[in-house]
Amino acid sequence: MIVSYGALVLWVRQVMRYFIKTYGCQMNFNESQKVDALLRRQGFEPVSSPATADLILVNTCSVREKPEKKVFSLIGRLKSPEKIVGVMGCVAQQYGENMLKKEKGVDFVIGTQALHHIPEIVSKALGKKGRITDTGFTDPETSLAVFREPLISPGVSAYVTVMQGCNRFCSYCIVPYVRGRERSRYSEEILAEVRDLARRGVKEVVLLGQNVNRYGLDRKGDLTFPQLLRRIEKIGGIKRVRFVTSHPADLDDEIIHLFGELETVCESIHLPFQSGSDRILRLMGRGYTRAMYLRKIEKLREVKPEISITADVIVGFPGENERDFNETLSLMETVQFDALFSFRYTPRPLTRAARYAGQVPEEIKLKRLQTLQILQSEITLKKNRLQEGKLKKVLVEKPSKHPEGFMMGRTRDNRIVNFEAPKRLAGQEIDVRILEGYQNSLLGKVEGVYVY
Ligand code: SF4
Repeated sequence: MIVSYGALVLWVRQVMRYFIKTYGCQMNFNESQKVDALLRRQGFEPVSSPATADLILVNTCSVREKPEKKVFSLIGRLKSPEKIVGVMGCVAQQYGENMLKKEKGVDFVIGTQALHHIPEIVSKALGKKGRITDTGFTDPETSLAVFREPLISPGVSAYVTVMQGCNRFCSYCIVPYVRGRERSRYSEEILAEVRDLARRGVKEVVLLGQNVNRYGLDRKGDLTFPQLLRRIEKIGGIKRVRFVTSHPADLDDEIIHLFGELETVCESIHLPFQSGSDRILRLMGRGYTRAMYLRKIEKLREVKPEISITADVIVGFPGENERDFNETLSLMETVQFDALFSFRYTPRPLTRAARYAGQVPEEIKLKRLQTLQILQSEITLKKNRLQEGKLKKVLVEKPSKHPEGFMMGRTRDNRIVNFEAPKRLAGQEIDVRILEGYQNSLLGKVEGVYVY
């Protein structure tokens, strides 16, 4: 220990520069933020390019084949005897020790439950104490320890991870194997984090978990997800709350009613449906039918008619035929999603579906994906155009990428709006008249008088 600490102090004096590359979802992004905070507290300095870094961390995602391939391609390009390269996250967990055998340029591998060990491991790696693997699963408390680290500079909106892991074991999904079973953080710890963020000017929190609606069910005596939302509602300064990801089988009536009951809960939900065919849903092991999914959508719209609904969908799951695929298209026509994240099925190691018969040829998957994406683009554009003329409450976030003098913000139903406004409006909720709806955003004009 003393030796590691000494080595760390030595390296800090030389001001070690680090770069983190993150692949995957919001949870990975939040983990990178926490690791970033951990390293900065130890005296490391972030840089914006791997070329100028002494330490490169790659935070990885193995949910699909493509991001996993990207990780190996990046690691191959990073090879350099002067730099320390560490791999963390799902691919690190999946490969473990084999990552070191496969990739000679990698100095250490840190699994999904060991991120809080990063300063110690980095210190050892910098001291050239051999190549290190730390991918064991630990107890729930220890596995979530990294989330206690406060964010360095939170913006207007901040992610707060409330739980990790998943117990559902959908037949195509690697997450339960690389993230482990559901583990919730103590509610007091989460509430303290949200209070701290509110004190530092955050106006919106996005609660994260693989199956966020099941928050707290693994902790007898602590708050459930609805109770947690009710407590966050009382924290002064927090104007908006969002949460991802909800599972259709775990989104119960109590949670649905919170969209009407709590002012902070924004009228938007991400509710993956994955397929419109009951036969495929059964093979996926999703735990709901098409009719059950549609009933949840109806209930959400009964409580909040203006709620925006986004989802994930997979095409080309093993055994999917044209009829199944057409049922997916018809579900999309019925629901009219505001946006959709669509993916081609790729077999993932360890999962049941990878061994299923009836794997769909790539060219058919691609054709179906294209058909589905064309349909969704039309629906998304139509729904964005329907916003034209409406007056929307927009939480101003930051300067827009273009043009100069414009800011970007989000409506409560999670649409991005660009409008001309001074930078100092960041953090305010203002009225914006929507002038035009595009494919991915809206153009607006500020209405009302604001003290600039
Ligand atoms: S609910 Fe299914 S798809 Fe989602 S993380 Fe769990 S196993 Fe994977």
